[in-house]
Amino acid sequence: MSNKVLIIGAGGVGRVVAYKCAQHRDVFGDIMLASRTKKKCDAIADSIYQAYGGRKIKTARLDADQVEQTIALLKKFQPDLVINVALPYQDLPIMDACLEMGVNYMDTANYEPKDVAKFEYSWQWAYQERYEKKGIMALLGCGFDPGVTSVYTAYAKKHYFDELHELDIVDANAGSHGKAFATNFNPEINIREVTQRGKYWENGQWIETEPHEIWKDIDYPEIGPKRSYLIFHEELESLVKHFPTLKRARFWMTFSEQYLTHLRVIQNIGMAGIEPVRFKGLDIVPLEFLKAVLPKPEELGENYTGFTSIGNRIKGIKDGKEATYYVWNNCSHVDAYRETGTQAVSYTTGVPAMIGARMILTGNWSGKGVFNVEQLNPDPFMERLNLDGLPWHEKHNLDLGM
Ligand code: NDP
Repeated sequence: MSNKVLIIGAGGVGRVVAYKCAQHRDVFGDIMLASRTKKKCDAIADSIYQAYGGRKIKTARLDADQVEQTIALLKKFQPDLVINVALPYQDLPIMDACLEMGVNYMDTANYEPKDVAKFEYSWQWAYQERYEKKGIMALLGCGFDPGVTSVYTAYAKKHYFDELHELDIVDANAGSHGKAFATNFNPEINIREVTQRGKYWENGQWIETEPHEIWKDIDYPEIGPKRSYLIFHEELESLVKHFPTLKRARFWMTFSEQYLTHLRVIQNIGMAGIEPVRFKGLDIVPLEFLKAVLPKPEELGENYTGFTSIGNRIKGIKDGKEATYYVWNNCSHVDAYRETGTQAVSYTTGVPAMIGARMILTGNWSGKGVFNVEQLNPDPFMERLNLDGLPWHEKHNLDLGM
């Protein structure tokens, strides 16, 4: 099989996707990595060449905000699939280019307009009919969360529950990078996400909270209790749609006191703002400027120790009786760095993106239109997680501690 994939975005996640695709020459025959800054693509291509016995991947410069540029690259390279791991702002222009050229599309984060800190699936679900008519597939949100957490939910429903009632996605980063403040993925996207109001699903409606208003000390396997805050996360929107028996769905993420203190200061002094500020004759967006001075997520890996732990805690009904289930993965920052030169947050996103791409290219996942990952067969994906670096563990009939 000689499939061609175009990876767009050469940040921490793009690096992992390129590495992991390069490991599987049988599925990913020809790989191109394109991004706004070509030298980042070249650096990744060079390190893959060194790491994998002369495996060559192609590189290109691309501003994916410009639909015409992406169309031109698609015409030239003729990929079977585009893996979009640039920023959420690029989702729609890349989807437009794929639609125009009849190329399958996937990403790891839903669209967000640059000038409003708001993420939801409506913009991308609106492509359903056009993708269906064109006979191509768009796979949305195939990182870890969303992505693996969505597959975990589908797997639980398929094998262990007749009805899902309560879902808690619990996401801990119990790692240490030694910096006073840094974000684990793109700082601009990360800060926009975590400073939003909280939101969860209960009894058929969304309940909003102040940012970080609700918290809990959650016990994570092999890590112990960590303070975890209820935040809104995009997979909640698609999961309550696709699993309508859910009475409650929440997402929890750990933040250290130090991280939250820095975040409060950043907000209080206006550095999280997304409105341009006139400075010395230039329009500067404070959050974009902040990104330029913060540590780069892809450079955090070298001294990162500890683990991430992300999983789903589920309560529901099986054969008329209440059942509980916990499925999770712990990922080591050190091991992720050793394998791909980057930390576990990029690793846990990039590996599932490669597996999703594999599912499409091998025909395990197929369909015409726009799909969230939980709509597809979870089994082959779960199998690959164990083989490709993100092994999972499960427990049944336990106290979920939620
Ligand atoms: P980075 O900021 O490290 O990388 C983003 C890359 O995209 C950079 O190389 C950047 O180029 C490139 N890029 C930005 N704008 C354009 C453009 N207009 N055209 C072409 N390339 C562009 O981010 P991450 O690697 O940390 O994250 C990548 C994606 O993964 C994000 O969408 C993020 O939301 C998502 N994510 C998903 C997770 C999940 O579990 N589902 C978890 C973590 C992240 P340049 O180098 O020039 O800036």
